[in-house]
This record gives sequence, structure tokens and C-alpha cells, in this order.
Amino acid sequence: MKRWICALAVLCALALGCCAVADGSATVSVRGIGETVTVTLTMEDGRIASVEAVSDNAEADERGAESLKIVADAMVAKNSVNVDAVSGATGTSNAVIAAATQAWLEIQAEAAAGEGWMQPAPAGDTLYQVALLQSLVQGYYDGIVTVGELKRHGDTGIGTFEGVNGEMIVLDGTVYQAVADGSVAIPSDEETVPFSNVTFFDADETCALSDIADMAALQAAMNDVVDRLGANCFYMVKIEGAFSSIRVRSEYKQEKPYRALDVALAEDQTEFDYEDVHGTIVGLYCPDYMGGLNTPGWHFHFINGDRTRGGHVLQVGVAAAEAAFDQTDGFEMALSREAAFQDMALAKDVDEAIHRAETATVGEEPQEQP
Ligand SMILES: [Zn+2]
Repeated sequence: MKRWICALAVLCALALGCCAVADGSATVSVRGIGETVTVTLTMEDGRIASVEAVSDNAEADERGAESLKIVADAMVAKNSVNVDAVSGATGTSNAVIAAATQAWLEIQAEAAAGEGWMQPAPAGDTLYQVALLQSLVQGYYDGIVTVGELKRHGDTGIGTFEGVNGEMIVLDGTVYQAVADGSVAIPSDEETVPFSNVTFFDADETCALSDIADMAALQAAMNDVVDRLGANCFYMVKIEGAFSSIRVRSEYKQEKPYRALDVALAEDQTEFDYEDVHGTIVGLYCPDYMGGLNTPGWHFHFINGDRTRGGHVLQVGVAAAEAAFDQTDGFEMALSREAAFQDMALAKDVDEAIHRAETATVGEEPQEQP
């Protein structure tokens, strides 16, 4: 009997190691726009057997409520979580897709870990990066993946759009575009992305922040947590609460031939100051060694509570907020095969240009790095 169990375990493990899809069930909740969507996904015989999606706002939003079932049924019919959003209810649809994707990954990761065959980073603990900050800063603004593809790799993150057409904030499965006039749009899944970092967010640690005077003080408070948890992992963070002041920037869409980012921003950057505003900062921490692929330390984007204003954070004061940290120990990159990308000198030292692009305020000398 024991031998039979061993043999069975090896068979299962081999199957997992090659290509089989594991069975099981997982429930994941994600926060969409004004609602929390909860999806229970069940896999049987290697297929999606059922998808149940509910929203805590179903009564108030009839179209959204309909879309829950449409998207869930499409997943079962297609045996895939990669389905189209329902027009007129893209927010709810995208929340269902994000939750189902995470549930699917959790089922697969749990099965793999349980068999002891392979121990991948837990689902959701991979940081997905489109291109390099170094390619963006040198003026490679062509889209490399679509917004739809990006959402399959995470529900939380930051980035920009083709032609640096505004600042990207990804929050609770929705991609937001804070454009040059400071307002926020929701781009279609066909828009493309030249640079971004996303992950599926699950908080490993939270801390309360209050009376933080400026960016340097915020970074110091965040560094205390990172130093304790381990400074050589990535961290996606969400800082939600009341901000006493915040300065954000966006920029006008660039036309070809593209200029280097710091040169473009010197002319086409727009800035907005808000006081006593509620909202969320989505931030990325990269370890010191990431200097060749991204920028070490913190990069923050902000979106306000009603998702109408946002941008790349230049300065901030925190009245009271909660910071949630997702420690992330896997890394994946998407690169372009285009000749223009392949011909770039990506090992060139562009640290100065990155620093200018990240921190410079219109009409001022760049700030000293804190
Ligand atoms: Zn930014």
C-alpha cells in the first residue's frame, strides 16, 4: 500500500512538473471601483468547472451585476480566465478577471507545493516588469505589451503608456491613466505600455503612518519596514489615507522622434498640488542591485479616493494613513524584439537622467536625492 501511495505521488508530481493543470478550489476578493468582488473558482479534471462571482455592490449597479455572471460563464465556456470584459461594466469585469486569475494561480501553486515537486514563488509574489526604466529614460516609448496583457500579470502597480501619455496607477485590478491635465481616464485593454511594474497584491505587513512632513520622511518610515523584512526583495506598497499635501506630475503625450525622458519632461511636464486629500499611493521599492534595470529605492504614484486625479508623486505630506507591504521575491521581464529596442545601449549609465526624470519640478533645479 505504501509503495502504491509513493508511486501515485510520483505520478502526480511528474504530471505537475510537465503540463497538467491541478484541480482544487480557491476564493479571492479584489476591490474594484466602489465595490469588492469575490470569486470562487473550482477546477475539476483539469478544467474550470465553475466560477462564482459576487459583488457587494450588485444591488446598486445592475449592469455590473449582470456582467458578473457573463464573465464567469465565459470563463467556464472558454476554460480560461483570459476572457473579454463586458462593455459598459469594464470595472466589474476586470475585477472578476483579476480575482479569477489569482484564484487559478493559487490552485496551481498550492498543488505544486503540496506535491513537493517544485516550490515556485507563491502565486502573486512575482514582480512583472515591462522593459527597463533605462529604455524609457533613453526615449523608448513604444508599447511593448497591451494593458489587457499587463492585467494578467498583476492587479497593483505603476507605469506609463505609449508615448509617455500620462502616469499609470494600477489598483485593485483597474488600470488608471493620469493624463497631462491631472485628470484620470480608464484606458482600453488595447492601449499599450512601454514601461510598468505590477504584481498581484497581498499584504504581508502593514504599518500606520502619521504626521509625515515630506517625501524624505515618508521614504525613511517605509525603509524601516523594508530593512526589517529584508532589503533585497521587491516591495509593492499601498499607502491609503489622508494626505496633508501632495504634489504630482504628469506629462503630455510625446510624438516621434522621441526625445530622452528628462528632456521631454523639462518641456512637457505638468504639476498639480493638492491639500487635505484622501487617496492611495501605489509604490514600488527596488533593491540597490536593480540600478541597471530600474531605479533602486522608492517610486510612488498617487490616485485620489474618487479616482479622478492622480500622477507621479514629487512631494508629499501624510496626515494619517496605513501602508501595506507586499514582499515580492520573484521577478519577470517582458522585452521588445523590435530593432529599435535591440539597438539601444542599455548598459549606458543614465542614473543622472533617471534622477532628473523622477524628481525634477518645473522651473526648479532637481532635488537632492534623499
Ligand atoms: Zn512615475
